[in-house]
Parts: sequence; structure tokens; C-alpha cells
Amino acid sequence: MNNPKASRKRPRRGNVVLLHSSELRDLTYSTMKYIHKDRDLLLSSLLYCCGFIRETPSFFHVISPKVATRAHLETFHTSDFLDLLEYPKKNEDNMLYPSFRQSRDTEDDAAYVNLLDAYGLTDDCPIPSDPMKKASLWKYCLSIAGASLHAAHLVLQGMQDNPVDVAINWSGGRHHAHSDKAGGFCFVNDIVIATKKLIKAKKKVLYLDIDIHHSDGVQSAFYDTDQVLTVSLHRYVAGFFPSKSGSTKEKGKDVGLGYNCNLPMPRGCRDCDLIDMVSLVLSKIGEIYDPDIVVLVVGADGLKSDDLVKDTNEGWNLTPEGLAECVRRVACFCGDNQDESDENKDKFQNRKNRRRKLILLGGGGYNPANTARTFLLCTAAACESTRPGMLWKLLPKDIPHHKYFERYGPSFELISNTMKRMYSENETKSNDINYAKAVKSAKEDVILTSSFLSSKIEKPSTDQMFSYSEDSIDFEVGKGSNVMSAKNRLNGSRASTMNRRRRRK
Ligand SMILES: [Zn+2]
Repeated sequence: MNNPKASRKRPRRGNVVLLHSSELRDLTYSTMKYIHKDRDLLLSSLLYCCGFIRETPSFFHVISPKVATRAHLETFHTSDFLDLLEYPKKNEDNMLYPSFRQSRDTEDDAAYVNLLDAYGLTDDCPIPSDPMKKASLWKYCLSIAGASLHAAHLVLQGMQDNPVDVAINWSGGRHHAHSDKAGGFCFVNDIVIATKKLIKAKKKVLYLDIDIHHSDGVQSAFYDTDQVLTVSLHRYVAGFFPSKSGSTKEKGKDVGLGYNCNLPMPRGCRDCDLIDMVSLVLSKIGEIYDPDIVVLVVGADGLKSDDLVKDTNEGWNLTPEGLAECVRRVACFCGDNQDESDENKDKFQNRKNRRRKLILLGGGGYNPANTARTFLLCTAAACESTRPGMLWKLLPKDIPHHKYFERYGPSFELISNTMKRMYSENETKSNDINYAKAVKSAKEDVILTSSFLSSKIEKPSTDQMFSYSEDSIDFEVGKGSNVMSAKNRLNGSRASTMNRRRRRK
């Protein structure tokens, strides 16, 4: 990294941790190469040669992530579902699988396949028939969940008495997995498992997702709680995965009503519009909700001509630089540094003078080189709360020579100044009237959500404040979408009445 003097304007702050190990990289690569190809290998090499693994800055730490246990996975996933992932197809002791006994007692493979299909473990989330590969898949599930749980632990507890402001797990972000169903190349949902740890520690969490696909698994987990505010920017159109969710009408339910915000963005979404939306979400929703921790999922499948999404003809036109700028703005929202380059910086004037934590997770991204470059830039962007200028001033401009150098041709640029200029000069308005309408509609939804939260959060009634006893506020770990605090359950019936009055859609 060049010119470290550029960072001396401000005092050094907390630490940034990357959860990474060669074991996790190799496991993620071998398990997901059927769809991610070699992106994990490319990313690891790029992080290494750009100084994020080798010769890291003093505030940046690489930690080998811990592995989760089945009990950790059971904080979200059902036992039936996990049985199918963990155990071989046949076992001498069928009592291990009481729920599936009928199917497993038979030699009928079709029945077994039907069973797997019901749990989403076919098609894009196939269970390997080879026992060794299946065991490896189970280890992968435990490992990616363990890495995100480790990230949650670090932002809560710090690292050897040193605070951790940002924790990154690029192998995580599996946002499509439901409690009892895999989907969209996501076997288990590390995001939900880690976020449950945060809310068990009584932290308010803002979940922000800028992968092009709707975060259906995360939405299902926190749909009826106000302890997580879920915001997803995605493509929502008939036939586009996951297709059954992602509408603006999905606002949450019970005490969670108003705490789920879906913001569909149009086909061809450009950097400037996504960046604008992220800034608006942070200033209008984030400042009112005032989270302790932001969990941010970044997919690289919104990049222009993503290998998978381009076939749908519904993709976005984002660049790695545009996604990194989104991450930088979230990092600035979390840190106490003003985002001086943000032309809308007055939106951030009302923040409380305290730092928030950030957990940054990966997502989709099906062009290996573009995804690796995006996640590398986003790693630098996540450092902005600790080291302002890291993204645009301190990174090398070109891809350093390394094993996979040839994959980044023909430009071999790490940061494309052309792309950066495109959004920083405020691209001209689109002439597509439907595009403009979709962006305007998404912005209006942010304002509506903001108004609703404002009325709900800033004016708590007396009975809302004192209607529970001290011994009832412990979070109860539950399964599926029924997770809610004891406080919320006690207030549930009254809150539902209030919510019905406030229902506006
Ligand atoms: Zn995606």
C-alpha cells in the first residue's frame, strides 16, 4: 500500500479483522466451485498480494475462523434439515432419523430424492452422492457459519482487550437458506446464525443487503421481530430468483411490522443510483433506527454482465468501484468520521457521537476475477472507519503481479479511474421513464419506512416502556421465524393493535 502519510490526518482507531484461513479458502473453493468456479482462490491471492494477508497494516488482522457446532446451526435450522445435511443416505441405525424412517427404510431412491427436493437439497444445492464429498459439505456448512459467528463474537467482545470495529467473512453471506430449506447455492444461513448471537447480546442490528437477489432467508428469520431492521436492495420481477419474495408489500408482521424494507431496483441499475439509495437508507432509516451493529451483505452479481445473471437479461450495470463506494459509505456511517466527500454529508449531522460495529459478508458473484476485485476493494472500503482514505488513496492502482495476474486483463487495473469518475461526476439521468419511476418509487419507500420508524421509535408510550419485568427480557433462542424477545411477546398483543392502526399499505 502506498503513501501511508495520507492516513495521519486522523487518529488511528479500532481494528479490522478478516476471518480467513487456507483451510476455509480450500473448503469453500472445493464445495462451491460448481458455481463460484475459482473465485475463492483468486480473492485469497489478491488479498495476499495487496497486503491484506501478507504484511498487513497494524490495524488489520487476519484471524483463522472457528468452526461452528451443530448446536450453533440449530439456533436457526431445523433438526430434520440438518440430519439430511449431516448424515449419509443410509445408516445401520435408522432411529437416527425418526422423521425420515419411512423413506430411509426403503431402497426407493426416488423417495429419497423427493425428500431432498422438499428440503431444497437438489438442483442448485445438490447433496453429493459420494460420502467423502458429503462429509466435506457438512464441514463447509459448519465452517462458514463458524466464521460469521466468530465475526459476531469479535465485534461484541473485541480481540485480546482491543476493540474490533469491523469483521469480514467473504465466505459467508448465504442469504437464501431458510430454516428448513436450502436454495440459491446457500445450504445454511450464516447471516441469521451470527445475527441471532448479536441480538442475544441485546444489540440492535441493521441488516443491509446489496446482492442483486432478494435476501429471502434472512427476511423469513426476522420478519416478526423489531430487533433486526432488514433492508434489501434487489431485482424484483417475475421469474427472477427467488421470485416468491422481495415485494415492497412485505413489511414485517406483529412487532416486526415496519422493520422489513424491500427496495427493488430496476434492470440496468447504475452505480450512482445504488450509491444514492444506500446513502438514503443510512441517513433516513439508519439514523432513526440507530443500530449498534450493521451487518452488510455484498453480492458481486449486480456487476455488469455477471456470468450467471446476464442470461436473465434482468441484471444491473454496477462496477466493483460502485459497490466498494457503497461499502465505504456504510463504513463511514458506522465510524464517527464524517464522510467529507459525500455531497449529502448534512444527512449525517444528527448521528450520535459513538461508533457502530460492522460485519461485512460476501454474497453472489459468478465472474471470478470481477468478484475477487470487488471483494478486495470492499475490504479496503470497510477499513474507512478506521483508516480514512484506504480505498481511494492507499490501494495500488494496478493489479500486482501474482499467480492469477493474467485473469485481470486487458486493463490489469485494480481501481479503474474511468469507472470511479463515472459515478462521482453524477451520471446523467436515465431517459428510460420506467427506470426513473422505479428509482423514485424505491426512494419513496425509504421515506415511508423512515416516517413509520420515526413515529414508532421516537415516541414510546409509557406502558411500552414499563410493561415488562427485568427477568423477562432475556432473548429466547427459537427456530424458524418464531424468534422474538420475551419483551416483544409480552407487548405483542398491544403492539399488534397499534400496528393495525398504523397499517398504511
Ligand atoms: Zn445473488
